Amino acid sequence: MDLELTEEQRIFRESIRNFIEKEVAPLVEEAEEKEAFPLGLFRKMGELGYLCVRYPVEMGGGGADKVTECILVEELCRVCAGIAGGILVQSGLATEPLYRFGPQELRERFLYPAIRGEKIGAFALTEPDAGSDAASIRTRAIREGDHYVLQGTKMFITNGPICDFAVVAATVDPSRKAKGISLFVVERGTEGFRVARKLKKVGNRSAETGELIFEECRIPAANLIGGEEGRGFHQIRDTLTSGRITYGARCTGVAQAAYEASLRFARERVQFGRPIIQFQVNRFKLADMAMKIDIMRSYTYRVARLSDMGARVMKEASMVKLFCSETLQQILSQAMQIHGGYGYMMEYPVQRFWRDGRLFTITEGTSEIHHMIIAQELGF
Ligand SMILES: Cc1cc2nc3c(=O)[nH]c(=O)nc-3n(C[C@H](O)[C@H](O)[C@H](O)COP(=O)(O)OP(=O)(O)OC[C@H]3O[C@@H](n4cnc5c(N)ncnc54)[C@H](O)[C@@H]3O)c2cc1C
Repeated sequence: MDLELTEEQRIFRESIRNFIEKEVAPLVEEAEEKEAFPLGLFRKMGELGYLCVRYPVEMGGGGADKVTECILVEELCRVCAGIAGGILVQSGLATEPLYRFGPQELRERFLYPAIRGEKIGAFALTEPDAGSDAASIRTRAIREGDHYVLQGTKMFITNGPICDFAVVAATVDPSRKAKGISLFVVERGTEGFRVARKLKKVGNRSAETGELIFEECRIPAANLIGGEEGRGFHQIRDTLTSGRITYGARCTGVAQAAYEASLRFARERVQFGRPIIQFQVNRFKLADMAMKIDIMRSYTYRVARLSDMGARVMKEASMVKLFCSETLQQILSQAMQIHGGYGYMMEYPVQRFWRDGRLFTITEGTSEIHHMIIAQELGF
């Protein structure tokens, strides 16, 4: 029994697990094979309030708390981290700045349709020469009367190839570094905005990732998020902090999937006349995995609950992201080892968990960057 959850949260876990088994699991094989996100899922999840579960019901969301969002994300990642990746950009990075900072006109045009699954969003911060050092982005936004003109390239953008709009970070004044950055909404179809290419990836293949180009791309000045220049870096920081908590659940879901596959395999695989689970070394590996998953899940809930209480969780969000993504690597390595040669074959699902989970120490802040944030927050 999970003492950490309320009755409502436990019931939610059951219903979302049923939904995912019925509506998501059957789509995974084709999505991974074709490296294409199953687009119908946006509307299906939107209609049920599952797409952006944390936003208020009045906006079309599920009206749930951060803990509930973590439950949903864990269950989704247990079945497919790639599909979860596309959904998570929609429910977090691409919509959170609009949800938090408005203005209302942009919310009505982009946020509410995104919550309903009618419009797909992307979040474009990273550039070919600016990853961890996000303050050094070069995409320019130059004000011309009632418009901004955007010029630049964005790299590794999840949902980029399928998006109806992108929240784009650009600098209005490169000399001001972080203080010159603002966030803008750019609608697909705007002249000068194009997807240069869809990128082929090692894992998370059902999430579509691309390179975006903005050439003399003219957008209304009203598309500035928050209505004030130079606020972008703060807006990004708040958005990323929330996403890092969810990241704990993302890692927990993939770890749980790897554990379940390993347990099944260890019971079935016979060597030296016995199922390999009867060898102590394998039992210990499985016990170790189960223990680590329990800690990952509890820690994620704890930080999610702190966030629900309105606490400042900059340090804790980095800790949960760093701890869970690094611990996941140990779990995935053990899972592969238990599978022996079969684990290295594409027909066994554990290789997908291994490929998908490898990304998690890299995106939304690498492990090195999270160490830096934690040290800074601790005052050294
Ligand atoms: C599949 C995928 C999806 C993505 N989706 C998105 C998206 O939707 N939107 C978006 O904007 N971005 C996205 N990204 C980009 C992602 O956030 C970046 O890849 C990440 O921030 C790291 O940047 P980088 O790849 O340029 O690595 P770099 O910053 O070049 O880092 C390379 C290495 O150097 C280390 N390093 C860098 N600086 C320091 C330092 N000061 N001290 C110590 N070590 C350091 C890093 O930790 C890393 O190990 C995605 C990336 C991938 C791979």
